[in-house]
Amino acid sequence: MATLLNFGFTKPTSATPLKGNESEPDLNNNESHKSSIMRRTFNNRWLNEYSWLAFDDTTKSMRCKFCTKSKRSNPFGLNGSKNFQRSALERHQSSDDHILATSNKKQSEVFTKTVNEKFEKTKPAVSAMFRTVAFMVEEDIADRKFEKLIDLQIENDCDALKSTSNYKHADSFQKMEDVLAEAAQEEIDALISKCDFIGLMVDESIDVAIHKKMILYLKIVMNGKPKILFGGNVEVSDGKANTITAAILKYMTDHNISFDKLIGFASDGANAMVGRLNGVSTQLKNMNPWIESVHCAAHKLALAAFHGAKTMPYLLEMQRTINSVYYFFKYSLLDIRKLGNCKLFLVRKLRNSKSHQM
Ligand SMILES: [Zn+2]
Repeated sequence: MATLLNFGFTKPTSATPLKGNESEPDLNNNESHKSSIMRRTFNNRWLNEYSWLAFDDTTKSMRCKFCTKSKRSNPFGLNGSKNFQRSALERHQSSDDHILATSNKKQSEVFTKTVNEKFEKTKPAVSAMFRTVAFMVEEDIADRKFEKLIDLQIENDCDALKSTSNYKHADSFQKMEDVLAEAAQEEIDALISKCDFIGLMVDESIDVAIHKKMILYLKIVMNGKPKILFGGNVEVSDGKANTITAAILKYMTDHNISFDKLIGFASDGANAMVGRLNGVSTQLKNMNPWIESVHCAAHKLALAAFHGAKTMPYLLEMQRTINSVYYFFKYSLLDIRKLGNCKLFLVRKLRNSKSHQM
C-alpha cells in the first residue's frame, strides 16, 4: 500500500514522551506554532495563581513542588517544563499524577502533625521514664524493679507518669536502656574521633550469668587533660592471647577507631596479656610498634603483696585466721546475730568510755 513515505515525506519524530496521563500537543509538525511558543516566557504572576508552581532559575524551567518532592515522572516533576503556556499549567493541575502527589503531601502533613502532637503530649512522661531508667542504671537497680519505681512515683503525685501504664514492663526498660546506651556510645565515638591518640585498658571479667567477658576502657587526652571513657564489655570465648587480641581488633573496627591512634595498652600483667612471644601486647606491637605496654599499678601492688606475704609466716597465719572467722559466720544466721550483738555491746562500751573521759 502506498503511503506518503513513498513520495519523499519523512515520518514526524515524536516529542519527548510524557508519562502520567498528561499530554502535550506534538508541536514539531508545526514550525510556526513552535517558534511562537519559543518566544513565550515565564509569567511571574503564575506563581501566585498556582501554589504548587516554582520556577527553576538554573534550568529556566517550570517545576511542580509536590510532583518534584514525590518524584513523579511527569515533565513538571522530572526535568521541568519549558512549555510556558497557561494551558500546560492547567493540564498539569488536573492530571492524575499531580492530584496523587498533592494528596500524598496532605496525608504526610496530617501524619506529621499527629505524630508531633502525640509526641508533645507524651514528652513529659517519656522524659520521666528515661530519667528513672538512667537512675536505676547508675544505682545498679535490677530492671524488674522498674514497674514498682514508676508506681511509687505515680503514688507520689508525679502526674507526668500517670499515662505510662503500657510502658512499665521490664521489656520497655530494656528498650530505653538500649537507647541510652546507644546515645552514650555515640558521644564516646564522637570524642574518640576527635583525638589523635588513645590508650586501651583491658581486663577479663564475668557477668552475672557467668559469661566470660573482657572489659575495655579508653584513655584519651582532651584539651590537655586525660579522660577515661568506658569502651564496652565484650564477650570472649576464652582468656587466650589470640582470642583477646581478636576481640580488641574487632572492637576497634566496629567503632571505626584507627589502629594508628593506639599508643598505649594497659593490662593486669598476666602471661596471656604481656607474654614476650605471643602475649596480647606483643601481638599488638607487631602491628603498631609505637604501642607502649603498661602493667596496671593496682594489679602490680596486689601481686607484690601476695608474693611478699608468702615469705612471712605470721602474715599467712593472719590471713588463715581472718578467712576462718569469715566463713564461720558466713553460713550461720544464728552466729551472725551473735556477732551483731557483740558489735552492739562493744559500741556501747566504747561510747561509755568516751563519755567518762569527757
Ligand atoms: Zn504536580
